Amino acid sequence: MAAALPKVWLRQGREKSLRRRHPWIFSGAIERVDGVPERGATVDVVAASGEFLARAAYSPASQIRARVWTFDPHDAVDAAFFRSRFARAIESRRKLGLLEPNGACRLVFSESDGLPGVIVDRYGGFLACQLLSAGAEAWRATLVEVLAELCEPRGIFERSEGSGRHKEGLDSRRGVLLGQEPPRELEVDAGGVRVVVDLANGQKTGAYLDQQSNRKRVAAHAHDADVLDAFSYTGGFAIGCLRSAARSATLVDSSAEAVALAQRETALNGVGDRCRFVVANVFDELRAMRDAGARYDLVVLDPPKFVHSADQVNAGSRGYKDINMLGLALVRPGGTLATFSCSGHVDAALFQKIVAGAAVDARRSAQILERLAQPPDHPVATEFPEADYLKGLILRVH
Ligand code: SAH
Repeated sequence: MAAALPKVWLRQGREKSLRRRHPWIFSGAIERVDGVPERGATVDVVAASGEFLARAAYSPASQIRARVWTFDPHDAVDAAFFRSRFARAIESRRKLGLLEPNGACRLVFSESDGLPGVIVDRYGGFLACQLLSAGAEAWRATLVEVLAELCEPRGIFERSEGSGRHKEGLDSRRGVLLGQEPPRELEVDAGGVRVVVDLANGQKTGAYLDQQSNRKRVAAHAHDADVLDAFSYTGGFAIGCLRSAARSATLVDSSAEAVALAQRETALNGVGDRCRFVVANVFDELRAMRDAGARYDLVVLDPPKFVHSADQVNAGSRGYKDINMLGLALVRPGGTLATFSCSGHVDAALFQKIVAGAAVDARRSAQILERLAQPPDHPVATEFPEADYLKGLILRVH
């Protein structure tokens, strides 16, 4: 029997969320901690009565003081534990048909796959990995070893960056974790589209895998359309639309690197000659287009996250409303708007209200044809609704 783990004692009555299997323990819920556990150390979380509740990773610098690995007192947190969690996540993607040799998908989605702070994206033979919590950081060597064993990748590249890591008291890390360095332009097949991924320097881990299935849904509305792909990144929506018989596409993104990749990617997919590329701020560009009388049959709005915390909901909502008013103004009568929000704090109901308000103010009547969400390789664990972040609407605009 292994030595007893340090205990984190909760205040009276603060165990309720753990009983519902929510995986976060906030600092305010903690009465006391036995000893001084190191960052990322495994601790037992117990109720005021001493009853075992969960085994978790301790994070002394974070408001989220511990993140649960397991609610089962018989589970040791070790290599076998991580192997079993990884295997379960990978098996789920296999059942979804997402493990084609040159395909791309999210293999592990953090809390929703029972691995708080661990994100693994697969791009053909390469894995891109984000270790975003103190617990994930502490287990990095084991996680890499187990992933290598289960996936036999050509290389594993780390993109542990962003504010989440900072809140855990961790610096950003980027670089090869195992095996080969990924090529600067890795070509993979993302849902029938050939995608050029720069694992080392691209946004996120190189691509927006969460929009793969939505690109197909939007493309179904693109027949004969002149398409505006606003916030295009490398043009995933535009390419999907052009391959399903759209007439033309205008891609707008503020990142010159993204637009350069978009040029490569559209050419690779044989649709480059029907594309126009604009490096610009979407707000300014769409306003100028509106004032110049430009109109499109299909407008796609896929902005970055506007709302990062609950206190930004109002300001972010105004951003969404503004951009949707501009987008609506550019749709030809009878055309289509596909509009997204990846802000978890703006739920689907609020997003629909914002878009409805934008339609009123833009003096356009619109009908919701389809509701979109994140794909099944970005699952939402029922006990962790925070994982639910991506929502979209496809509207007919009169
Ligand atoms: N639609 C893309 C993903 C978009 S992510 C896809 O399917 O892959 C959001 C994009 O918006 C990023 O590429 C980012 O560079 C860009 N962006 C952020 N703020 C912007 C702004 N104000 N104007 C134009 N582009 C912006």
